[in-house]
Amino acid sequence: MRELTNNRLIRKGRGIRKQKVAVYTDKTVAPSFTLTASRVQIVPLKGAFIYINNRIYRGKINLIRKDKEHFLIVNELGVEEYVRGILCNEIAPWWPMDALKAQSIIARTYALYQKQFPKDKDFDVTDDIYSQVYTGKTSERWRTNRAVMLTRGKVLTFAGKVFPAYYHATCGGRTEDARELWNVDLTPLKGVTCGFCSGSPHYHWQQRIPLIAIHSKLIEKGYLCPEEIQSIEIIARNNSHRVSRVLIKGLDKNLEITAKDFRQALNPNVIRSTNFTLQVEDGSLHIEGLGWGHGVGLCQWGMYYMAKEGHSDEQILYHYFPESKITPVK
Ligand SMILES: [Zn+2]
Repeated sequence: MRELTNNRLIRKGRGIRKQKVAVYTDKTVAPSFTLTASRVQIVPLKGAFIYINNRIYRGKINLIRKDKEHFLIVNELGVEEYVRGILCNEIAPWWPMDALKAQSIIARTYALYQKQFPKDKDFDVTDDIYSQVYTGKTSERWRTNRAVMLTRGKVLTFAGKVFPAYYHATCGGRTEDARELWNVDLTPLKGVTCGFCSGSPHYHWQQRIPLIAIHSKLIEKGYLCPEEIQSIEIIARNNSHRVSRVLIKGLDKNLEITAKDFRQALNPNVIRSTNFTLQVEDGSLHIEGLGWGHGVGLCQWGMYYMAKEGHSDEQILYHYFPESKITPVK
């Protein structure tokens, strides 16, 4: 057994790059040797990578003590390298190059926006959907790396600042105003007519859900749902035609709920968007909708078809984010 003590340089590396993003990898590690230090930093030699929990990482690894035996793994690396590890998880590498380039720019923009509000004192972002899905070098592909390289250092700004460049799978015809979901009021995020995503495999969806299952889901999530649901009605839609409020009627009481909460409570992968119509029949809810996702910002399948039709990454981004500007990172 080897014992490592505080503030001891185990081995010095060469060619350390400027570090920009620290990603919490949502995993812990139990080293096979005794560590008395509260933090250990592993710095690879130039051109080398660190292999940890079946994944290969670029940049440094910080091991931060969580308890007696476990350490958090935080990957510290440059933004360009980080974006490489995101892209394959967000987009298919065979999509047109201008779509990959547009996605690189918004992934970089979103990362730098989030970095302004670190998730924790030990890291800026997480490696899951609460930031952007990041899987290190393991998932990198040649075409997505090329797109990152071709857009190196470019971000999308509004009034000279990076902003939360949201994206989603398919808007279903019109993108959503960010104000409808979050406390975000920005010109590029007010919603536009998409007009490109009707060929998306996620354009249309439908579901049949027993009312009894809806009742249990709502109760499980803490809503005061009527004992026996008699009907479900749409009571308001917003400017993008998405449903904003739903009324669930019962014999004992009614429940009014936002469509956003209704979708989250029932499962956002079942109720794929809030752009739906519905009717209750034979003890079940028949619900049909358009698009997949929250609908704010860039519509990825719209981007795919725009790029296929010959639009550039710049034209795609300016279509979905009006009055934004592609700018070099400061
Ligand atoms: Zn769309």
